[in-house]
Amino acid sequence: MLNQKENRKLQAKSRFIRFLVLIVILGISTLLGILHQVLLTRPPVGVDALCPFGALESAYTLIATKTMLNKIATSSFLLLISTLLVAIFFRRVFCGLICPFGTLQELFGRIGKKIFRKKILIPKQIDRFLRYWKYLGLGLIVFFSAYTGTLVQRPYDPWVTYHHLSSSDLFSEFNIGFLILLFSLVGSLLYDRFFCKYLCPMGAFLALINKLSFFRIERNESTCIKCRACDRICPVNIEVSKEKIVHSPECINCNECVTICPVPDTLLITNRKKTRFFSPLAVLGITVLLFFIVISITSLTGNFQWTVQSLTEQVKIKGDFDPNLITGRMTFMEVSAASGIPKEIFLNEFRISEEDLSIPFKDLKNKYPFETENVREFLKQFIEK
Ligand code: SF4
Ligand code: SF4
Repeated sequence: MLNQKENRKLQAKSRFIRFLVLIVILGISTLLGILHQVLLTRPPVGVDALCPFGALESAYTLIATKTMLNKIATSSFLLLISTLLVAIFFRRVFCGLICPFGTLQELFGRIGKKIFRKKILIPKQIDRFLRYWKYLGLGLIVFFSAYTGTLVQRPYDPWVTYHHLSSSDLFSEFNIGFLILLFSLVGSLLYDRFFCKYLCPMGAFLALINKLSFFRIERNESTCIKCRACDRICPVNIEVSKEKIVHSPECINCNECVTICPVPDTLLITNRKKTRFFSPLAVLGITVLLFFIVISITSLTGNFQWTVQSLTEQVKIKGDFDPNLITGRMTFMEVSAASGIPKEIFLNEFRISEEDLSIPFKDLKNKYPFETENVREFLKQFIEK
């Protein structure tokens, strides 16, 4: 058994390693997002294909039509499977130990704490009422994604917006997403994890299934000294010091309460029968390892999609040409090759030069009065005729 000093050292190390892992994941996903924007040949897949929630949005379409929604890839499904696997054991650890948008909010929270030295508190009744919004959002997003066959949440998604901050489409496609991103990050300076608490549909989904998990946090009432350090550190405002077992679906399983509790073995991560115990570091290690194993094996077998497929490849998989597959990085030449529509049609319709046929749409808009959306619309009408 550890003495108090050793325990404190181990807790500080656990908190440091957790934050380091979060920052590394945020760094990797940010880098992939930047490369997606700047590389023209074989760029990494977009943010939608690296988010497990995309798979949830696409689930109905996949079952009904055996195809995924545009911008979703096998990688989204593999990440959703990994998220569910860790959730069976350790509840919402995806939110507390993996999610890069949660980390971004936590980072702003830490900066805010340094600047303002305190956090604001929202009155309990208002807070409780607002927490239901994310469940409503989850229902609406999953329903309308299935109904319309598109990613309806995309223009409002702050994480997708974050990955388009340098894009010329930012204010044409993501103006609401930008406002939500701004509100979530600036808000996090004074109020922890605003988006996670009130708006995140993935968090809502994991909260709904968290009762199925084997492990939870338990408080030993006989050793607890009621210092309330656990309450103060909890980013989602759970009063851990009043609970025997942390049942709340709002708990994001960051385990910060466990690594701040000054009395050894007072907050424990354990199963229902209390026959197994895990340290916060072990939970972090198992969670990261599981994601790593799934991603590595499926990358080696070629099932984890890392790079964007060309339009021709996408058309081959889908079986027919869909103008919605067109993105700003594509060119008229690519569209012509994938759709079979002669390039002369584009030269006449858009009044561009031969050389412009090979320039991405997102760059052509600086030269001509049309955007990617206009090309999609033209093709939809052309195909209908
Ligand atoms: S109760 Fe503990 S593990 Fe859950 S969110 Fe709060 S600090 Fe994190
Ligand atoms: S931090 Fe530990 S000792 Fe302090 S109130 Fe919470 S559970 Fe009890």
